[in-house]
Amino acid sequence: MPPAIQWSTPLQFLKGIGAARAKAMAGRGLETVTDLLYYMPIRYEDRSSQKRIRELEPGEMATVMARVTSIHSKSLRRQGSRLTEVVFHDSSGGSLVGKWFHGGWIADVLQPGTLVSLYGKVEFETYTRSLSMLHPDYELLDAEAETEEPGGQALHTGRIVPVYSAIGKISSRMLRGWIHRLLQQVEPAGDALPEVVRAPLRLKPFWQALCETHFPEAGCAVRDLNRFRTDAQFRLIFEEFFWLECGLVLKRRKARREVGIAFQLNQRVRDQIKRMLPFRPTGAQKRVLQQIAQDMSDPAPMLRMLQGDVGSGKTLVAAEAAIIAMENGYQAAVLAPTEILAQQHELYFRRLLQPLGYEVLLLTGSDGARDKVMKKRAVEHGLARLVVGTHALLQGDVAFHKLGLVIIDEQHRFGVMQRFQLMRKGASPDVLVMTATPIPRTLALTIYGDLEVSVIDELPAGRKPIETRQIPEGHIELAWSLVRQQVDSGHQAYVVYPLVEEQESAARKAAEQMREHLQRDIFPDLRVGLLHGRMKPQDKEDAMDAFKRGDTHILVATTVVEVGVDVPNATVMVIEHAEGFGLSQLHQLRGRVGRSAAKSYCLLVTSRMTPEAQQRVQSMVATNDGFRIAETDLQLRGPGELFGTKQSGLPAFRFGDLLRDHDVLEHARNEALGFVARHEGKPELEAAHAYLREHWQRRYGLVLVA
Ligand code: ADP
Ligand code: MG
Repeated sequence: MPPAIQWSTPLQFLKGIGAARAKAMAGRGLETVTDLLYYMPIRYEDRSSQKRIRELEPGEMATVMARVTSIHSKSLRRQGSRLTEVVFHDSSGGSLVGKWFHGGWIADVLQPGTLVSLYGKVEFETYTRSLSMLHPDYELLDAEAETEEPGGQALHTGRIVPVYSAIGKISSRMLRGWIHRLLQQVEPAGDALPEVVRAPLRLKPFWQALCETHFPEAGCAVRDLNRFRTDAQFRLIFEEFFWLECGLVLKRRKARREVGIAFQLNQRVRDQIKRMLPFRPTGAQKRVLQQIAQDMSDPAPMLRMLQGDVGSGKTLVAAEAAIIAMENGYQAAVLAPTEILAQQHELYFRRLLQPLGYEVLLLTGSDGARDKVMKKRAVEHGLARLVVGTHALLQGDVAFHKLGLVIIDEQHRFGVMQRFQLMRKGASPDVLVMTATPIPRTLALTIYGDLEVSVIDELPAGRKPIETRQIPEGHIELAWSLVRQQVDSGHQAYVVYPLVEEQESAARKAAEQMREHLQRDIFPDLRVGLLHGRMKPQDKEDAMDAFKRGDTHILVATTVVEVGVDVPNATVMVIEHAEGFGLSQLHQLRGRVGRSAAKSYCLLVTSRMTPEAQQRVQSMVATNDGFRIAETDLQLRGPGELFGTKQSGLPAFRFGDLLRDHDVLEHARNEALGFVARHEGKPELEAAHAYLREHWQRRYGLVLVA
């Protein structure tokens, strides 16, 4: 008797898979039987209502089974374009032409005689009086899986068929065959989701849901399947989100019970804050400071995210929070994602806090060895009250005297683990996370579900909306004349170049050349500065200072100005090759202007654009609202891309999709909150805890679940 197949069996030991295919699948994260059984169809095709070619109606979506009779390829007049046409026939005697542009490869796959299932939109061409499909989905029907498996026919046709994303040379059809076989071979899985959650929602048993998601029952509505909203699909998605949210709720609850610092909010604290404030805070700033102060005075450690669009004044609020900590005899740490931003923060905090007698210190990776030793000593002995730094601050050998508050800027660039590394440096310091990338609510729930959220939803008074225009590269003189006009009236301007990691030296060169060109040919009477990531730290600082003082009128830069640079007198942001930037990045860059009551401009200089780039530029021109921009960005790129899955700690889901299933996520969150609240101290909660520890802790980084 062959050994039984377990959920944990590596895929390479399965019949028909072997080492080479297992390797390809491992590249997609599929290593065991569990991984393969959790590999979800991307869509479903109803092949039960398969049509014959003669029955097809123009305009309908249809599936037909037909054989290839001939293939022709021709180049079109349009330069470089090639059209491949494949003629199919079926037993009805009708014929259908499949068309592929740039489809030379299709001739290798579809050869005369091949039997395929085609799915696509039926067109009728009056000119040739023939039926056709443009880029139809197809599946080879006499591939190896069928000959291997008796009865395979019924699996792949004449029913609702799941379609899987192919993995290299592993076709949807092969995957379907393997998954079908495995579902017969493994021990059916029981239910991990607590009965008390399942019963009221009438959720199907897990095993049944899994089987029906792969192989829907006859008569199931294909429309619901393709929206991923059948009962079976909902069940799987719900469970995945439920555990995530449950973990986050438990983690937050645990953090609340930890003993941290109860900061005093006395008159002296209030006086110092008042002395520090350079302007009257906005209503939103006051409100969020109150929320922060409340958290800080509470003995449980604060874990709060401060959200607000660029320029909304988050840093000022952070400085107020720092005063609360420092007046209570503690140190504050400010963590920035880049060195240039750390320098900016240091300048900003020094200007606000040093006059009140708080020592501000900058600690970065580029400090010289002797400097580093001295600075570390100052931190260790508590002479430095507020310490600004990059990840160098996270390194093991920096010890604080008495760390009370950690302020993290742009936290999604750090990732969850680093956040906790720093926290361990104090007893249990309060943590304030600032983010200038507004995060749509569903994502915030997922990524930051363990954080409380404060939102600054108001800009300081007197700000005028930034006017954003698109300028084709050929008309760049329009940009320069606006720069000239603004500088003439006493303002300053940025000119930014895209910086792609691999092309760094090229972008730097372009920036250097552009500075030369602007200085020599366009603005010989003005001072044009340069700032890029590869300059020596001292030179960067000098360039930034000169611009801040107004000594340089125009600053040519690579994207180092993306985050955090604060020069309110700058009113023009010219972005060259704007088509090369992501949407959120463009919005961040635009946020460098419009920081005073003066009217500001953002000019997007573009050359040839893809349709997506066009959409990005259009959204920029259409709105200044960071939340709307973020939603659009999310739709264009998807959450993983937007945040960089690894960096953000954004979990990779097997069943759920944050964009498609945000309603299920909210539902699951409410259920998780209710479940935890109702089962305090009961065995159900204990069991859930144990399950999370065993199955979810490592995967989703729920490190604090105990
Ligand atoms: P964020 O960090 O949210 O992008 P900043 O804290 O850098 O925004 O503030 C943007 C600009 O607005 C800075 O020049 C800051 O000094 C100024 N600012 C902040 N709060 C106010 C306020 N209440 N009134 C006027 N200007 C403000
Ligand atoms: Mg800022």
